[in-house]
Amino acid sequence: MPLDTTTVQTLAELFAQGATNNDAVRALGIDKSTAARYRTRLGFGPAPKRPAPNRSTLTVEQKVMTFMRSVEGGHMEWAGRRTKNTGTPVFTHHERTYTARSIAFRAHTGRDPEGYVTAECDQPEWCVAPAHLEDEPGRTRARAALAVITGRATSLVECNRGHATAEHRRYLPDGAPYCGACHAEAKHARQAAA
Ligand SMILES: [Zn+2]
Ligand SMILES: [Zn+2]
Repeated sequence: MPLDTTTVQTLAELFAQGATNNDAVRALGIDKSTAARYRTRLGFGPAPKRPAPNRSTLTVEQKVMTFMRSVEGGHMEWAGRRTKNTGTPVFTHHERTYTARSIAFRAHTGRDPEGYVTAECDQPEWCVAPAHLEDEPGRTRARAALAVITGRATSLVECNRGHATAEHRRYLPDGAPYCGACHAEAKHARQAAA
């Protein structure tokens, strides 16, 4: 049905405010196909999708914090779900599954981690406190500093298989150095043999 000028004007205002076709049907008593036709004619794009009513309004960084429980020493325990095989803390946000430590790291630093994220405090098994987490570069820096303190820093420029120290040197939590490239090669060889 054709609409009178006043109705068209009201309709244009409603669309401009983000109203859906259903909103227009309810507000003006017009039928839905008319609302859709005028939406196109007035030059408005498709109506914005409404989030499902039970959809979390939290950001993914806010959601991860809802599963954290503060404990003594500034550490935090994970009160959410874990993966069956490895026990990695995970959670779901808007139908997607995330690793808790990766998102907690991002919440704390404002950037995505490089490589995997570990707790570098004295409770690495279970701690998920954002301030205690490090990604690959941060972990290597922290452990390299520990290697210096414990007298295990190396002056060699490459490992005994020729991998450059500057690029491949990694450290165990106690500061003991090892070659990351050799470690990765050995792991691949084990997986290929399995
Ligand atoms: Zn901790
Ligand atoms: Zn090596």
